[in-house]
Amino acid sequence: MKGDRMHRTPDLSRRGLLAGAAALGALPLLGGLAGCATPGGPSIGRVVVVGGGFGGATAARYLRMWGGNVDVTLVDRNPQFISCPISNLVVGGYKQMADITRGYEGLKALGVKVVQGEVTAIDAAGRKLRLADGSELAYDRLVVSPGVDFMTEQVGGLQTALDQGVVTHAWKAGPQTVALRQQLESMKDGGVFALSIPKVPYRCPPGPYERACMAAAYLKQHKPKSKVLVLDANPEVQSKKALFEKAFQQHYAGILEYRPNAELKEVSGTLAKLEFEDVKADVLNVVSPQRAGDIAKSTGLINVNQRWAGVNWLTMESTAVPGIHVLGDATFPGPGMPKSGHMANQHAKVAAAAIIQLLKGEAVNATPVVMNTCYSFVTARDVIHVASVHQYDATDKAFKPVPGSGGVSAAANQIEGRYALSWAQNIWDDMLAVPS
Ligand SMILES: Cc1cc2nc3c(=O)[nH]c(=O)nc-3n(C[C@H](O)[C@H](O)[C@H](O)COP(=O)(O)OP(=O)(O)OC[C@H]3O[C@@H](n4cnc5c(N)ncnc54)[C@H](O)[C@@H]3O)c2cc1C
Repeated sequence: MKGDRMHRTPDLSRRGLLAGAAALGALPLLGGLAGCATPGGPSIGRVVVVGGGFGGATAARYLRMWGGNVDVTLVDRNPQFISCPISNLVVGGYKQMADITRGYEGLKALGVKVVQGEVTAIDAAGRKLRLADGSELAYDRLVVSPGVDFMTEQVGGLQTALDQGVVTHAWKAGPQTVALRQQLESMKDGGVFALSIPKVPYRCPPGPYERACMAAAYLKQHKPKSKVLVLDANPEVQSKKALFEKAFQQHYAGILEYRPNAELKEVSGTLAKLEFEDVKADVLNVVSPQRAGDIAKSTGLINVNQRWAGVNWLTMESTAVPGIHVLGDATFPGPGMPKSGHMANQHAKVAAAAIIQLLKGEAVNATPVVMNTCYSFVTARDVIHVASVHQYDATDKAFKPVPGSGGVSAAANQIEGRYALSWAQNIWDDMLAVPS
Protein backbone atom coordinates (compact mmCIF):
# COMPACT_ATOMS: atom_id res chain seq x y z
CA MET A 1 0.00 0.00 0.00
CA LYS A 2 3.01 2.29 0.40
CA GLY A 3 2.95 2.58 -3.36
CA ASP A 4 -0.39 4.32 -3.03
CA ARG A 5 1.44 7.37 -1.72
CA MET A 6 1.94 8.21 -5.37
CA HIS A 7 -1.83 8.53 -5.59
CA ARG A 8 -1.85 11.60 -3.34
CA THR A 9 -3.15 13.53 -6.27
CA PRO A 10 -4.32 16.94 -5.11
CA ASP A 11 -8.06 17.40 -5.57
CA LEU A 12 -8.34 21.12 -6.12
CA SER A 13 -12.13 21.21 -6.06
CA ARG A 14 -13.71 22.91 -3.03
CA ARG A 15 -14.93 19.54 -1.81
CA GLY A 16 -11.54 17.94 -2.29
CA LEU A 17 -9.77 20.70 -0.40
CA LEU A 18 -12.19 20.39 2.48
CA ALA A 19 -11.71 16.63 2.61
CA GLY A 20 -7.94 16.93 2.43
CA ALA A 21 -7.81 19.59 5.15
CA ALA A 22 -9.88 17.39 7.40
CA ALA A 23 -7.69 14.33 6.92
CA LEU A 24 -4.55 16.33 7.48
CA GLY A 25 -5.49 18.07 10.68
CA ALA A 26 -7.91 20.95 10.15
CA LEU A 27 -5.64 23.05 12.37
CA PRO A 28 -7.14 26.49 11.79
CA LEU A 29 -10.58 25.22 12.71
CA LEU A 30 -9.54 24.19 16.18
CA GLY A 31 -8.05 27.40 17.49
CA GLY A 32 -4.46 28.55 17.85
CA LEU A 33 -2.80 25.41 19.13
CA ALA A 34 -0.52 24.74 16.19
CA GLY A 35 2.09 27.11 17.60
CA CYS A 36 2.47 25.40 21.00
CA ALA A 37 4.04 22.17 19.82
CA THR A 38 7.26 22.56 21.77
CA PRO A 39 8.02 19.44 23.81
CA GLY A 40 9.98 19.68 27.05
CA GLY A 41 9.46 21.46 30.36
CA PRO A 42 7.41 20.12 33.25
CA SER A 43 4.53 17.82 32.36
CA ILE A 44 1.18 19.61 32.28
CA GLY A 45 -0.71 16.39 32.98
CA ARG A 46 -1.17 12.68 32.40
CA VAL A 47 -3.65 11.56 29.76
CA VAL A 48 -4.41 7.90 29.18
CA VAL A 49 -6.15 6.93 25.93
CA VAL A 50 -8.13 3.68 25.75
CA GLY A 51 -8.34 2.36 22.19
CA GLY A 52 -5.75 2.79 19.45
CA GLY A 53 -8.17 3.00 16.53
CA PHE A 54 -9.22 6.03 14.51
CA GLY A 55 -10.27 8.14 17.50
CA GLY A 56 -7.77 7.04 20.14
CA ALA A 57 -4.60 6.98 18.04
CA THR A 58 -5.41 10.41 16.61
CA ALA A 59 -6.02 11.81 20.10
CA ALA A 60 -2.71 10.40 21.35
CA ARG A 61 -0.84 11.89 18.41
CA TYR A 62 -2.36 15.36 18.68
CA LEU A 63 -2.08 15.50 22.46
CA ARG A 64 1.66 15.01 22.05
CA MET A 65 1.97 17.25 19.02
CA TRP A 66 -0.11 20.13 20.34
CA GLY A 67 0.41 19.63 24.05
CA GLY A 68 3.86 20.97 24.70
CA ASN A 69 4.44 18.38 27.38
CA VAL A 70 1.50 16.12 28.03
CA ASP A 71 2.33 12.66 29.33
CA VAL A 72 0.34 10.40 26.96
CA THR A 73 -0.23 6.65 27.29
CA LEU A 74 -2.20 4.74 24.63
CA VAL A 75 -3.66 1.33 25.50
CA ASP A 76 -5.04 -1.14 22.97
CA ARG A 77 -5.65 -4.86 23.20
CA ASN A 78 -4.11 -5.38 19.77
CA PRO A 79 -0.42 -5.05 18.93
CA GLN A 80 -1.15 -3.35 15.61
CA PHE A 81 -3.82 -1.18 14.05
CA ILE A 82 -5.97 -2.90 11.42
CA SER A 83 -8.22 -0.60 9.40
CA CYS A 84 -11.90 -1.23 8.70
CA PRO A 85 -11.78 1.28 5.83
CA ILE A 86 -10.43 -0.64 2.79
CA SER A 87 -11.16 -3.97 4.54
CA ASN A 88 -14.05 -4.61 2.15
CA LEU A 89 -11.44 -4.73 -0.62
CA VAL A 90 -9.74 -7.53 1.29
CA VAL A 91 -13.09 -9.34 1.41
CA GLY A 92 -13.36 -8.90 -2.37
CA GLY A 93 -9.79 -10.12 -2.91
CA TYR A 94 -8.49 -6.78 -4.22
CA LYS A 95 -6.23 -5.97 -1.24
CA GLN A 96 -4.35 -8.02 1.34
CA MET A 97 -4.42 -7.79 5.16
CA ALA A 98 -0.90 -6.29 5.05
CA ASP A 99 -2.34 -3.36 3.07
CA ILE A 100 -4.67 -2.40 5.96
CA THR A 101 -2.30 -3.16 8.87
CA ARG A 102 -0.05 -0.56 10.45
CA GLY A 103 2.20 -0.36 13.55
CA TYR A 104 2.36 2.17 16.37
CA GLU A 105 6.05 3.07 15.81
CA GLY A 106 5.26 6.63 14.70
CA LEU A 107 3.38 7.33 17.92
CA LYS A 108 6.16 5.80 20.01
CA ALA A 109 8.70 8.00 18.24
CA LEU A 110 6.58 11.00 19.19
CA GLY A 111 6.82 10.05 22.86
CA VAL A 112 3.49 8.27 23.28
CA LYS A 113 3.81 5.32 25.67
CA VAL A 114 2.04 2.49 23.85
CA VAL A 115 0.78 -0.34 26.04
CA GLN A 116 -0.71 -3.53 24.65
CA GLY A 117 -3.38 -4.75 27.02
CA GLU A 118 -7.06 -5.13 27.78
CA VAL A 119 -8.57 -2.39 29.94
CA THR A 120 -10.88 -4.26 32.30
CA ALA A 121 -12.03 -1.54 34.69
CA ILE A 122 -12.01 2.24 34.98
CA ASP A 123 -12.15 3.86 38.42
CA ALA A 124 -13.41 7.33 37.50
CA ALA A 125 -13.43 8.61 41.10
CA GLY A 126 -9.87 7.41 41.70
CA ARG A 127 -8.74 8.55 38.21
CA LYS A 128 -7.09 5.24 37.37
CA LEU A 129 -7.75 2.17 35.26
CA ARG A 130 -6.89 -1.48 35.51
CA LEU A 131 -5.51 -3.80 32.83
CA ALA A 132 -6.14 -7.52 32.48
CA ASP A 133 -2.64 -8.27 33.81
CA GLY A 134 -3.56 -6.50 37.08
CA SER A 135 -1.46 -3.41 36.47
CA GLU A 136 -2.93 0.07 36.91
CA LEU A 137 -2.51 3.38 35.13
CA ALA A 138 -3.30 6.71 36.79
CA TYR A 139 -4.50 9.70 34.82
CA ASP A 140 -5.57 13.31 35.11
CA ARG A 141 -7.85 13.00 32.09
CA LEU A 142 -8.96 9.86 30.28
CA VAL A 143 -9.90 9.44 26.62
CA VAL A 144 -12.06 6.44 25.72
CA SER A 145 -12.46 5.50 22.05
CA PRO A 146 -13.41 1.81 22.18
CA GLY A 147 -15.49 1.63 19.01
CA VAL A 148 -18.55 -0.60 19.06
CA ASP A 149 -19.50 -3.94 20.55
CA PHE A 150 -22.32 -6.14 19.34
CA MET A 151 -25.82 -6.59 20.73
CA THR A 152 -25.93 -10.19 19.60
CA GLU A 153 -28.68 -10.91 22.12
CA GLN A 154 -31.06 -9.20 19.67
CA VAL A 155 -30.68 -12.01 17.10
CA GLY A 156 -31.40 -15.51 18.36
CA GLY A 157 -28.51 -17.93 17.90
CA LEU A 158 -26.14 -15.27 16.56
CA GLN A 159 -23.57 -15.36 19.36
CA THR A 160 -23.34 -19.15 19.12
CA ALA A 161 -22.96 -19.05 15.34
CA LEU A 162 -20.23 -16.41 15.66
CA ASP A 163 -18.46 -18.37 18.40
CA GLN A 164 -18.53 -21.49 16.25
CA GLY A 165 -17.16 -19.56 13.27
CA VAL A 166 -20.15 -20.60 11.13
CA VAL A 167 -21.20 -16.97 10.71
CA THR A 168 -18.93 -13.92 10.45
CA HIS A 169 -19.47 -10.24 11.19
CA ALA A 170 -16.18 -8.86 9.80
CA TRP A 171 -17.31 -5.51 11.27
CA LYS A 172 -14.07 -5.23 13.24
CA ALA A 173 -11.17 -5.70 10.86
CA GLY A 174 -8.77 -8.55 11.63
CA PRO A 175 -9.28 -12.32 11.84
CA GLN A 176 -12.97 -11.87 10.97
CA THR A 177 -12.02 -10.17 7.69
CA VAL A 178 -9.76 -13.10 6.83
CA ALA A 179 -12.46 -15.62 7.77
CA LEU A 180 -15.08 -13.98 5.56
CA ARG A 181 -12.68 -13.83 2.62
CA GLN A 182 -11.89 -17.52 3.08
CA GLN A 183 -15.59 -18.42 3.23
CA LEU A 184 -16.21 -16.59 -0.05
CA GLU A 185 -13.23 -18.34 -1.65
CA SER A 186 -14.48 -21.72 -0.48
CA MET A 187 -18.08 -21.14 -1.58
CA LYS A 188 -19.20 -23.18 -4.57
CA ASP A 189 -20.08 -21.50 -7.85
CA GLY A 190 -23.87 -21.20 -7.64
CA GLY A 191 -23.78 -20.53 -3.88
CA VAL A 192 -25.62 -17.79 -1.99
CA PHE A 193 -23.78 -15.11 -0.02
CA ALA A 194 -26.27 -13.42 2.33
CA LEU A 195 -25.40 -10.16 4.07
CA SER A 196 -27.60 -8.99 6.94
CA ILE A 197 -27.66 -5.25 7.74
CA PRO A 198 -29.07 -4.03 11.10
CA LYS A 199 -31.30 -1.04 11.59
CA VAL A 200 -29.43 2.27 11.84
CA PRO A 201 -27.46 3.53 13.69
CA TYR A 202 -24.48 1.26 13.08
CA ARG A 203 -20.77 1.79 12.33
CA CYS A 204 -20.20 3.11 8.78
CA PRO A 205 -23.61 3.60 7.12
CA PRO A 206 -22.36 2.88 3.54
CA GLY A 207 -20.07 0.02 4.60
CA PRO A 208 -22.51 -2.89 4.12
CA TYR A 209 -23.49 -1.76 0.62
CA GLU A 210 -19.81 -1.44 -0.31
CA ARG A 211 -19.29 -4.96 1.02
CA ALA A 212 -22.18 -6.26 -1.08
CA CYS A 213 -20.56 -4.69 -4.15
CA MET A 214 -17.12 -6.13 -3.38
CA ALA A 215 -18.51 -9.62 -2.83
CA ALA A 216 -20.59 -9.36 -6.01
CA ALA A 217 -17.59 -8.11 -8.01
CA TYR A 218 -15.56 -11.12 -6.88
CA LEU A 219 -18.35 -13.62 -7.53
CA LYS A 220 -19.23 -12.10 -10.91
CA GLN A 221 -15.68 -12.69 -12.07
CA HIS A 222 -14.88 -16.02 -10.40
CA LYS A 223 -18.21 -17.76 -9.59
CA PRO A 224 -20.77 -16.20 -11.91
CA LYS A 225 -23.62 -18.59 -11.05
CA SER A 226 -23.60 -17.32 -7.45
CA LYS A 227 -25.91 -14.81 -5.77
CA VAL A 228 -25.47 -11.96 -3.30
CA LEU A 229 -28.55 -11.44 -1.17
CA VAL A 230 -28.63 -8.19 0.80
CA LEU A 231 -31.04 -8.49 3.73
CA ASP A 232 -31.51 -4.95 4.98
CA ALA A 233 -33.48 -4.33 8.19
CA ASN A 234 -33.92 -0.74 7.02
CA PRO A 235 -36.60 0.35 4.54
CA GLU A 236 -34.01 1.53 2.02
CA VAL A 237 -30.29 1.90 1.35
CA GLN A 238 -28.95 4.13 4.14
CA SER A 239 -26.17 6.06 2.41
CA LYS A 240 -25.49 7.23 -1.17
CA LYS A 241 -28.77 5.50 -2.06
CA ALA A 242 -29.14 6.45 -5.73
CA LEU A 243 -25.46 5.74 -6.42
CA PHE A 244 -25.51 2.31 -4.79
CA GLU A 245 -28.79 1.40 -6.49
CA LYS A 246 -27.28 2.39 -9.81
CA ALA A 247 -24.20 0.25 -9.13
CA PHE A 248 -26.36 -2.74 -8.14
CA GLN A 249 -28.24 -2.41 -11.45
CA GLN A 250 -25.34 -1.48 -13.72
CA HIS A 251 -22.73 -3.98 -12.52
CA TYR A 252 -24.51 -6.71 -10.59
CA ALA A 253 -27.95 -7.24 -12.18
CA GLY A 254 -28.81 -10.94 -11.93
CA ILE A 255 -26.19 -11.48 -9.19
CA LEU A 256 -27.11 -9.05 -6.43
CA GLU A 257 -30.61 -8.89 -4.97
CA TYR A 258 -31.47 -6.14 -2.49
CA ARG A 259 -34.31 -6.78 -0.03
CA PRO A 260 -35.46 -3.89 2.21
CA ASN A 261 -37.32 -4.39 5.53
CA ALA A 262 -35.63 -7.76 5.92
CA GLU A 263 -34.69 -7.76 9.61
CA LEU A 264 -32.81 -10.79 10.85
CA LYS A 265 -34.55 -12.43 13.82
CA GLU A 266 -32.66 -15.67 14.28
CA VAL A 267 -29.70 -17.60 12.95
CA SER A 268 -29.37 -21.36 12.75
CA GLY A 269 -26.10 -22.36 11.14
CA THR A 270 -26.16 -20.40 7.88
CA LEU A 271 -29.96 -20.30 7.85
CA ALA A 272 -31.17 -16.70 8.27
CA LYS A 273 -34.64 -16.46 9.79
CA LEU A 274 -36.51 -13.27 8.95
CA GLU A 275 -39.99 -12.28 10.10
CA PHE A 276 -41.88 -13.96 7.25
CA GLU A 277 -39.36 -16.26 5.57
CA ASP A 278 -36.17 -18.25 6.01
CA VAL A 279 -33.17 -17.75 3.75
CA LYS A 280 -30.66 -20.56 3.28
CA ALA A 281 -27.24 -19.13 2.63
CA ASP A 282 -23.93 -20.82 1.87
CA VAL A 283 -22.06 -17.93 3.44
CA LEU A 284 -23.89 -15.81 6.02
CA ASN A 285 -22.36 -12.48 7.04
CA VAL A 286 -24.21 -10.68 9.83
CA VAL A 287 -23.53 -7.06 10.69
CA SER A 288 -24.95 -7.25 14.19
CA PRO A 289 -26.84 -4.46 15.97
CA GLN A 290 -24.31 -2.36 17.86
CA ARG A 291 -23.71 -0.13 20.87
CA ALA A 292 -20.75 1.67 22.42
CA GLY A 293 -17.91 -0.70 23.33
CA ASP A 294 -18.03 -2.82 26.49
CA ILE A 295 -15.63 -0.67 28.48
CA ALA A 296 -17.89 2.37 27.90
CA LYS A 297 -20.79 0.32 29.20
CA SER A 298 -19.05 -0.98 32.32
CA THR A 299 -17.77 2.53 33.13
CA GLY A 300 -21.28 3.99 33.05
CA LEU A 301 -20.62 6.14 29.99
CA ILE A 302 -23.68 4.90 28.11
CA ASN A 303 -26.50 7.33 28.80
CA VAL A 304 -28.40 7.65 25.49
CA ASN A 305 -30.91 5.00 24.34
CA GLN A 306 -28.99 2.44 26.42
CA ARG A 307 -26.53 2.27 23.53
CA TRP A 308 -24.38 5.38 23.16
CA ALA A 309 -22.31 7.82 25.19
CA GLY A 310 -23.51 11.40 25.38
CA VAL A 311 -20.75 14.05 25.20
CA ASN A 312 -20.23 17.78 25.53
CA TRP A 313 -19.26 18.53 21.92
CA LEU A 314 -16.90 21.38 22.86
CA THR A 315 -14.64 19.04 24.81
CA MET A 316 -15.91 15.52 23.98
CA GLU A 317 -16.19 15.05 27.77
CA SER A 318 -18.79 12.53 28.84
CA THR A 319 -22.10 13.92 30.08
CA ALA A 320 -22.28 10.94 32.44
CA VAL A 321 -18.81 10.70 33.99
CA PRO A 322 -16.60 13.80 34.51
CA GLY A 323 -12.94 13.64 33.48
CA ILE A 324 -13.54 11.06 30.73
CA HIS A 325 -13.65 12.10 27.07
CA VAL A 326 -15.41 9.76 24.65
CA LEU A 327 -14.72 9.67 20.91
CA GLY A 328 -15.82 8.03 17.72
CA ASP A 329 -18.39 5.32 17.20
CA ALA A 330 -19.15 5.07 20.91
CA THR A 331 -20.74 8.53 21.00
CA PHE A 332 -24.37 9.45 20.40
CA PRO A 333 -23.95 11.40 17.18
CA GLY A 334 -25.22 14.85 16.22
CA PRO A 335 -27.66 15.11 13.30
CA GLY A 336 -26.18 13.77 10.05
CA MET A 337 -22.95 12.80 11.80
CA PRO A 338 -21.89 9.32 10.68
CA LYS A 339 -20.06 6.72 12.72
CA SER A 340 -16.94 6.86 10.58
CA GLY A 341 -13.18 6.72 10.94
CA HIS A 342 -12.95 10.22 9.53
CA MET A 343 -15.42 11.55 12.10
CA ALA A 344 -13.60 9.75 14.95
CA ASN A 345 -10.38 11.41 13.76
CA GLN A 346 -12.14 14.78 13.92
CA HIS A 347 -13.61 14.12 17.38
CA ALA A 348 -10.08 13.32 18.52
CA LYS A 349 -8.72 16.66 17.38
CA VAL A 350 -11.50 18.55 19.17
CA ALA A 351 -10.81 16.50 22.31
CA ALA A 352 -7.01 16.86 22.14
CA ALA A 353 -7.25 20.64 21.81
CA ALA A 354 -9.80 20.89 24.63
CA ILE A 355 -7.88 18.61 26.99
CA ILE A 356 -4.70 20.64 26.59
CA GLN A 357 -6.64 23.82 27.26
CA LEU A 358 -8.38 22.29 30.29
CA LEU A 359 -5.05 21.08 31.68
CA LYS A 360 -3.66 24.58 31.25
CA GLY A 361 -6.75 26.19 32.79
CA GLU A 362 -7.57 27.99 29.56
CA ALA A 363 -10.92 28.41 27.79
CA VAL A 364 -11.70 25.83 25.12
CA ASN A 365 -12.48 26.71 21.51
CA ALA A 366 -16.15 27.76 21.41
CA THR A 367 -16.64 27.33 17.65
CA PRO A 368 -15.26 23.95 16.52
CA VAL A 369 -15.97 22.64 13.02
CA VAL A 370 -15.64 19.00 11.99
CA MET A 371 -16.08 17.27 8.67
CA ASN A 372 -16.43 13.89 7.11
CA THR A 373 -15.71 12.19 3.82
CA CYS A 374 -16.62 8.57 3.21
CA TYR A 375 -15.55 6.82 0.02
CA SER A 376 -17.11 3.53 -1.09
CA PHE A 377 -15.89 1.15 -3.78
CA VAL A 378 -18.70 -0.07 -6.04
CA THR A 379 -16.31 -1.98 -8.30
CA ALA A 380 -12.62 -2.73 -7.77
CA ARG A 381 -11.86 0.71 -9.24
CA ASP A 382 -15.00 2.85 -9.28
CA VAL A 383 -15.75 4.86 -6.17
CA ILE A 384 -18.44 7.18 -4.81
CA HIS A 385 -18.18 9.57 -1.88
CA VAL A 386 -20.36 11.42 0.61
CA ALA A 387 -19.02 14.49 2.44
CA SER A 388 -20.37 16.82 5.12
CA VAL A 389 -19.24 19.71 7.33
CA HIS A 390 -20.61 20.21 10.86
CA GLN A 391 -20.44 23.46 12.84
CA TYR A 392 -21.01 23.69 16.59
CA ASP A 393 -24.30 25.40 17.43
CA ALA A 394 -24.05 27.12 20.82
CA THR A 395 -27.84 27.36 21.22
CA ASP A 396 -28.49 23.64 20.81
CA LYS A 397 -25.03 22.64 22.11
CA ALA A 398 -24.63 20.27 19.16
CA PHE A 399 -22.80 19.97 15.87
CA LYS A 400 -25.14 20.79 12.98
CA PRO A 401 -24.56 20.20 9.25
CA VAL A 402 -23.50 23.41 7.50
CA PRO A 403 -26.16 24.17 4.88
CA GLY A 404 -24.84 23.76 1.36
CA SER A 405 -21.70 21.92 2.47
CA GLY A 406 -20.70 18.45 1.36
CA GLY A 407 -22.79 16.28 -0.93
CA VAL A 408 -22.26 13.11 -2.93
CA SER A 409 -20.47 12.15 -6.14
CA ALA A 410 -22.28 12.86 -9.39
CA ALA A 411 -21.46 9.32 -10.50
CA ALA A 412 -19.07 6.50 -9.64
CA ASN A 413 -15.67 7.12 -11.18
CA GLN A 414 -12.09 5.93 -11.22
CA ILE A 415 -10.50 9.22 -10.14
CA GLU A 416 -12.29 8.88 -6.82
CA GLY A 417 -10.93 5.34 -6.71
CA ARG A 418 -7.47 6.91 -6.48
CA TYR A 419 -8.66 9.51 -3.99
CA ALA A 420 -10.14 6.80 -1.78
CA LEU A 421 -6.81 4.98 -1.49
CA SER A 422 -5.04 8.31 -0.90
CA TRP A 423 -7.59 9.22 1.78
CA ALA A 424 -6.88 5.95 3.57
CA GLN A 425 -3.11 6.36 3.37
CA ASN A 426 -3.33 9.97 4.56
CA ILE A 427 -5.59 9.31 7.52
CA TRP A 428 -3.53 6.31 8.66
CA ASP A 429 -0.39 8.46 8.48
CA ASP A 430 -2.19 11.29 10.28
CA MET A 431 -3.46 9.19 13.18
CA LEU A 432 -0.33 7.06 13.55
CA ALA A 433 2.12 9.95 13.13
CA VAL A 434 3.89 8.44 10.15
CA PRO A 435 6.34 11.04 8.83
CA SER A 436 5.52 12.08 5.24
C1 LIG B 1 -16.27 -2.59 6.59
C2 LIG B 1 -16.08 -1.20 7.11
C3 LIG B 1 -15.68 -0.19 6.26
C4 LIG B 1 -15.51 1.10 6.74
N1 LIG B 1 -15.11 2.08 5.87
C5 LIG B 1 -14.94 3.34 6.33
C6 LIG B 1 -14.51 4.37 5.44
O1 LIG B 1 -14.30 4.15 4.24
N2 LIG B 1 -14.32 5.61 5.95
C7 LIG B 1 -14.54 5.90 7.26
O2 LIG B 1 -14.32 7.05 7.67
N3 LIG B 1 -14.96 4.94 8.13
C8 LIG B 1 -15.16 3.68 7.69
N4 LIG B 1 -15.57 2.69 8.57
C9 LIG B 1 -15.91 3.06 9.97
C10 LIG B 1 -14.68 3.14 10.87
O3 LIG B 1 -13.95 1.94 10.85
C11 LIG B 1 -15.12 3.42 12.31
O4 LIG B 1 -16.06 4.45 12.31
C12 LIG B 1 -13.90 3.80 13.15
O5 LIG B 1 -13.07 2.66 13.29
C13 LIG B 1 -14.32 4.33 14.51
O6 LIG B 1 -13.19 4.69 15.26
P1 LIG B 1 -13.17 4.43 16.84
O7 LIG B 1 -11.92 5.03 17.38
O8 LIG B 1 -14.48 4.84 17.42
O9 LIG B 1 -13.13 2.84 16.97
P2 LIG B 1 -12.03 1.82 16.43
O10 LIG B 1 -11.30 2.38 15.27
O11 LIG B 1 -12.72 0.52 16.27
O12 LIG B 1 -11.00 1.70 17.62
C14 LIG B 1 -11.35 1.10 18.84
C15 LIG B 1 -10.10 0.49 19.43
O13 LIG B 1 -10.31 0.27 20.84
C16 LIG B 1 -9.71 -0.95 21.20
N5 LIG B 1 -10.38 -1.37 22.44
C17 LIG B 1 -11.71 -1.41 22.68
N6 LIG B 1 -11.96 -1.78 23.95
C18 LIG B 1 -10.75 -1.96 24.54
C19 LIG B 1 -10.33 -2.34 25.85
N7 LIG B 1 -11.23 -2.61 26.81
N8 LIG B 1 -9.01 -2.45 26.11
C20 LIG B 1 -8.10 -2.20 25.14
N9 LIG B 1 -8.42 -1.82 23.87
C21 LIG B 1 -9.74 -1.70 23.59
C22 LIG B 1 -9.95 -1.85 19.99
O14 LIG B 1 -9.02 -2.92 19.96
C23 LIG B 1 -9.77 -0.87 18.83
O15 LIG B 1 -8.44 -0.86 18.35
C24 LIG B 1 -15.73 1.38 8.12
C25 LIG B 1 -16.12 0.36 8.98
C26 LIG B 1 -16.30 -0.92 8.49
C27 LIG B 1 -16.70 -2.01 9.43
